[in-house]
Amino acid sequence: MKSSEPSPTPRRAAPSVSTAPPQAWHTKTSEQVLQQLQSSITGLSSTEAAQRLLSNGPNELKEGKRISAWQIFLGQFKSLIVWILIVAGIISGVLGEMVDAIAILAIVVLNAVIGFYQEHSAEKSIAALKKMAAPQAKVWRDGAIKAVPAAEIVTGDVLELEAGDLVAADARLLSAASFKCVESALTGESEAVEKQAVTLDQAEVPLGDRKNMIFMGTSVAAGSGRALVVATAMQTEIGGIAGLLAEAGADEDTPLQQKLTSFGRILVWASLGIVALLFVLGLLRGMPFLELFMTAVSLAVAAVPEGLPTVVTIALALGVMRMSRRRALVRKLPAVETLGSTNVICTDKTGTLTVGEMTVRVLYVAGQTFEITGEGYGPDGEVRVAGKAADERQAKLLRELANNLIGCNNAHLALESGQWKVLGDPTEGAMLSAGHKAGITEEQIEHEMPKRHEIPFDSDRKRQSVIRRLPDGRHRAFINGAPDLLLQHCTHILTAEGIRPLTDADRAEIADQNTALAAQALRVLGSAQRDLDAVLPEQLKAEEVERDLVFVGLTGMYDPPRTEAKEAIAKCHSAGIRVVMITGDHPHTAAAIARELGITTADAVALSGAELDQLSDDELHQRVTQVAVYARVTAAHKLRIVRAWKASGAVVAMTGDGVNDAPAIKGADIGIAMGRSGTEVTKQASDMIVTDDNFASIVAAVEEGRGIYDNIRKTLQYLLAGNCGELLLMTAAIVIGLPMPLLALHLLWINLVTDGLPALCLATDPIDADVMKQPPRSRNERITDGGFLGTMFLTGLLTAGVSLAVYLYALKHESLEMARTHAFAALVFAELLRAFGARSETRPLWRMNHLSNLNLLLVVSISFSIQVWSHHNALLAGFLKTSLMPFSECLMLLSISVIPLLVLEGVKWLRRRSP
Ligand code: ADP
Ligand code: MG
Repeated sequence: MKSSEPSPTPRRAAPSVSTAPPQAWHTKTSEQVLQQLQSSITGLSSTEAAQRLLSNGPNELKEGKRISAWQIFLGQFKSLIVWILIVAGIISGVLGEMVDAIAILAIVVLNAVIGFYQEHSAEKSIAALKKMAAPQAKVWRDGAIKAVPAAEIVTGDVLELEAGDLVAADARLLSAASFKCVESALTGESEAVEKQAVTLDQAEVPLGDRKNMIFMGTSVAAGSGRALVVATAMQTEIGGIAGLLAEAGADEDTPLQQKLTSFGRILVWASLGIVALLFVLGLLRGMPFLELFMTAVSLAVAAVPEGLPTVVTIALALGVMRMSRRRALVRKLPAVETLGSTNVICTDKTGTLTVGEMTVRVLYVAGQTFEITGEGYGPDGEVRVAGKAADERQAKLLRELANNLIGCNNAHLALESGQWKVLGDPTEGAMLSAGHKAGITEEQIEHEMPKRHEIPFDSDRKRQSVIRRLPDGRHRAFINGAPDLLLQHCTHILTAEGIRPLTDADRAEIADQNTALAAQALRVLGSAQRDLDAVLPEQLKAEEVERDLVFVGLTGMYDPPRTEAKEAIAKCHSAGIRVVMITGDHPHTAAAIARELGITTADAVALSGAELDQLSDDELHQRVTQVAVYARVTAAHKLRIVRAWKASGAVVAMTGDGVNDAPAIKGADIGIAMGRSGTEVTKQASDMIVTDDNFASIVAAVEEGRGIYDNIRKTLQYLLAGNCGELLLMTAAIVIGLPMPLLALHLLWINLVTDGLPALCLATDPIDADVMKQPPRSRNERITDGGFLGTMFLTGLLTAGVSLAVYLYALKHESLEMARTHAFAALVFAELLRAFGARSETRPLWRMNHLSNLNLLLVVSISFSIQVWSHHNALLAGFLKTSLMPFSECLMLLSISVIPLLVLEGVKWLRRRSP
């Protein structure tokens, strides 16, 4: 660079001094980078990390601005209706009707406050959920690997990465084994690119070619590695690309919210039209202008369901909170609605339908079957053959198998408060424990044959390899994996007499053993070895290592089905939901577990991945509805299964944990990632995360999804039927030519208190115990279907009828004011009583638990008391513009107001009898 040039301006302003300007990290050696960032190969201390976090800020890309509380409050005044009200309030003030003016403005404010409170708390609970589902990263802190939220990563942190991890910051690779990244978010290149911990000598290389660097926003496709964080947050490469950030925070409305918004718009214009018509009609009848105007305005306010979207938001937000308590984190709000109509759940087996705690029961070496005693992961237990301890010759063979079980393994066992626990894959934990029982320890193996290389497990290959150096300087590969596949790569076998070529008879014998163990619901692993030269090639490819193998033996382990999964499956069946098991395990193991859980009947068999490959898409479409168990599948098969089900018109939920599952998860209607075993990539692709990996939690989420939908529907029904009643009552009065039965204030009061508050309680009603006893609703079902509208009109007619009846009667015998009081009280009572029946469209009143929604009970009691009190207390009567009347009269009105409730219960009864 010429010295006359001005010093280069940093690409982006650094927010703090300690953040280095962009550098050519890729041209530095790992030692230089470590030194420059004052870190070490085992990362930072947690105090140092905390300090850096404080001075540099969290590792987050700036999203679009969050909506502030103030904006939510102002948003309450956006609707036309509110402005009509405000104008009406001002007009009545100008005309000297001070009580009206104050009451109307008070109602406007109250309405805004309630609306604000609801929306604000919904917003807050969704934000809290987002935090729970935020990505995690594995970093070295205080010399050990820890999972921390990605936002807490600082420069100098050392990341530990494996397939399926998201890269949480820009980092320089320190070590890498078969490491590949997908960098499409950054470079547009969709193929995974190979990464290596080398030092590049050119500074000017495009991002995509900096193969010793990994970048925030990309993901690890394969292998494992360790990397030093050099930039976080907006200092990262992706942080520099401003355009990409707009994409974050794409919180759309759910389909239901969208539908209701447009439905609401129709209702607004329809009711405004009716109100305008009534206004004209009233004018023609010569009604006093002011009174007519006020009534029309209030009627418009009452008839327009402006609270509709809010109610849906609240029902969704609260439901989502409730789901999280049942271990289902919803990542995308529309998923809640889809969950309710899910009719197929495709689920993993291991850890989801089963406990995921394995115990090795059987070892098979050199034609001999051994039993292993002892439960759990502890070292207590022994290897026996036909009830006796193994002899010396047998013990030697067993130790050879144990070399594989322990030597090709990434798990660790630890004693935690008296119990042996696995750190890592439970399958591998069980293998360790079995190896111990066969007389070998990790220390022994590590000492005699140190580990040199590893080709990690992947669920498509279904095996993994570890290469160790033998005492004589040569190397040996230890391979464990699915026996049927492994056997295809074996040419020799270990026997009591030594190694000899594998015969067809041997193959048949091993295959028989494999099926026999699998049929006992055991998960079976095969073990094999291969001797390699003293000098290993630079690149070790799986295909080159895992061939010409010597078969060593089989390991059979038991993983009991979850008891709660069995109940959950029964629940699914009564709810009309099909459960499909999809596993990488052996078809016999899968079928045996499926039978134990009640997924299939006695003689059903599993369809294997190989058989699936034989089917054309058309053939699969035809068969898919009959298959309940798929075994030995790869991730690609999962996607085919999802597609075939979708083509049959089903709403499919699909679970997954590995990187390879992401396409199937994206393709499903509901993609479910496993919280514990799932990789970050899978989680990011999912609609929902099950935090305990348990099948029962998925079913619980479906149940909640159905409940939320029901709640939205009944709230809607309650609100709209109420509006319908008011509209009908007023229309009838004007058409007949009577004075207004309800005053403006009464309409506003009913809208806000008698209808509004119970509606809120309905939106948060506990789930009915029967939701999982009904078939799923169809995806295309409209929430406002014929039955809905029918009930709405009937209810409106009934409440309007009752109120009109008492009004007409009182008009004859008493003053107009008294008649209005009666009409008002009757309508309020009818609405309040109706709220209880509205809790279910099918369940009769006397078979509901009325104590399960205490809020509703409370709200109704309070409204009721205010109403009754307003007929006794002159002050309140003045405010609500009612007349005083004796308690006995209230009781009389109450007994008439119960009619709509009773009729509606009768309709329910009829519907139950004739479905
Ligand atoms: P699933 O998760 O559906 O049970 P996996 O893909 O985990 O299926 O396993 C498929 C097969 O791969 C198993 O039946 C077993 O033989 C083999 N396998 C599983 N885990 C390991 C492991 N850690 N090491 C070696 N082989 C394994
Ligand atoms: Mg697995």
